Amino acid sequence: MKILVCISNVPDTTTKIKLVNENTDFDRTGVQWIINPWDELALTRAMELKESTAGLIEKITVVNVGKKENEGTLRKALAVGADDAIRVEADPKDAYYVAVQIAKVAKEEAYDIILAGIESSDYNGAAVGGMVAEMLDIPSVSSVSGLFIEDGKVSLNREIDGGQEVLSTELPFVAIVQKGISIDPRIPAMRGIMMARKKPLTVVDAVEADVLTGFVNYELPQAKSACKMIDEENAGDLIKLLHTEAKAF
Ligand SMILES: Cc1cc2nc3c(=O)[nH]c(=O)nc-3n(C[C@H](O)[C@H](O)[C@H](O)COP(=O)(O)OP(=O)(O)OC[C@H]3O[C@@H](n4cnc5c(N)ncnc54)[C@H](O)[C@@H]3O)c2cc1C
Repeated sequence: MKILVCISNVPDTTTKIKLVNENTDFDRTGVQWIINPWDELALTRAMELKESTAGLIEKITVVNVGKKENEGTLRKALAVGADDAIRVEADPKDAYYVAVQIAKVAKEEAYDIILAGIESSDYNGAAVGGMVAEMLDIPSVSSVSGLFIEDGKVSLNREIDGGQEVLSTELPFVAIVQKGISIDPRIPAMRGIMMARKKPLTVVDAVEADVLTGFVNYELPQAKSACKMIDEENAGDLIKLLHTEAKAF
């Protein structure tokens, strides 16, 4: 069995976003890039499954559609434990375009399980995983918070209102994962970092694909007004402000 984990390269969640080019892009200067948090959990779950199924999982491959500067993120995924990495050389600007590239990679190696995050933490498209499944004409299960393999059979858990849903599916399939798929993302250890340098990272050309969507511009949320402090003896002022400014009642 082979697992493909889709890895989106995203700015660290503490990044202060500064818009440039008439608010159509953001300034990448000094940005720290990380593995999209959901993809990190997906990779961790893939590792756990490989370790607990004694030889059933032949390899875990990570894939990113992006430019050379994304290789640091792929190397981190190799350090966590992926066996090899593929970078599709492309300037990704759209979920459809990205999905076409991943579907091509998945088809070529006939991966049995394809894991994608529920959304990227930067563009929040929540689109790629479902598109990949459709392009490959295979089942997809969304919002997966549990993935198990027992006696070669796969079961998936989904959180539903007040409970859990358990599903089964045939291989190959796409699981679009969310929080809970694994509890603690693995952090690369020194040995993993050393080994990652020697693991294969293949760069493949992108295939022709349309870009179906384009951003007109971005808007930052309005700056919050300064915090107003009210003395305890003037509690009435607080009620007035809640009514007149916060419009709470
Ligand atoms: C204007 C613009 C500029 C961009 N510039 C860059 C850039 O300079 N560098 C860059 O790396 N990205 C860039 N991107 C992001 C890139 O195009 C996204 O990967 C793509 O838009 C999909 O994002 P999404 O939010 O729809 O993904 P979602 O559907 O929210 O992502 C869900 C999951 O799909 C998988 N996935 C998403 N994107 C990728 C990917 N690229 N490779 C592999 N798996 C993926 C991951 O598993 C992810 O968790 C840019 C996007 C836009 C719109």
